[in-house]
Amino acid sequence: MKADQEAGNRFVLDWCRWVPAKVNIHVWRAELDRLPTGEALLKRNILIEESECPFCGAEVESSEHLFISCSTAAFVWQGVSSWCKIPNIFAFSISDLLSVFKSLRMSEKKKKEAIQCVIMIACWSLWRARNNVRFLNSPVKIDGILSEVKALGYLWFSHRSRFKGIEWREWCSFINM
Ligand SMILES: [Zn+2]
Repeated sequence: MKADQEAGNRFVLDWCRWVPAKVNIHVWRAELDRLPTGEALLKRNILIEESECPFCGAEVESSEHLFISCSTAAFVWQGVSSWCKIPNIFAFSISDLLSVFKSLRMSEKKKKEAIQCVIMIACWSLWRARNNVRFLNSPVKIDGILSEVKALGYLWFSHRSRFKGIEWREWCSFINM
């Protein structure tokens, strides 16, 4: 399924079939800069108390900062890369991030698709962690984000994809995919 930007068709999202629509829509909104980040709210002249990134407090919170350049995001991508046994994820924009799977040299289609969806789930979990810091003041834990990505990924991959039957320990070591 493709979702096109209403004007210009500049942007096309590669939909992941086995993650819930809300997760696909979330990355789609991130790419279109439609998430209510500090920067986006300021641009719309909405008064907010804090516009800085809730993870590091060092920069204005934009989607690109939250999902790419923030050190929290960098740690999450390191964790995802080492778990999935792929070269370090390196991106300059959300579009780059969502296209990482395309440049992977691997023959297994299933694995490539799994990595595409894992990256989307990691964006979802980063945003949830961001909300927890912003609204509940709960400190961010990289391990917690990575555990959630693995658990949600396994739940959805083993129940919703056409590749059923994978065991949890295989998923955790990303083998036999
Ligand atoms: Zn930050």
